[in-house]
Amino acid sequence: MQTDHDAQPFDPTGPSDAMQEYEARRCHACQARHPAFGFGPPLTRPGMVLWACGTHRAEVDGLLTGSPRPKAAAKRQPTLL
Ligand SMILES: [Zn+2]
Repeated sequence: MQTDHDAQPFDPTGPSDAMQEYEARRCHACQARHPAFGFGPPLTRPGMVLWACGTHRAEVDGLLTGSPRPKAAAKRQPTLL
């Protein structure tokens, strides 16, 4: 009787997608990987996912939406009378 029983190739499962995602996430603005207050849900736009810490969340969200940040002084023209 012959046992034809191949040793199963050791197949270490690579890093899971979730783990890679976890490793890849960092604040888009300050590159913090472990912000004090953690990350909220990712800021997503079609084709991209950005993470932001609590401090930079609004800033990164503004980058994604393309909404210009309100400038304190918007084109103040000197009054020439
Ligand atoms: Zn940040």
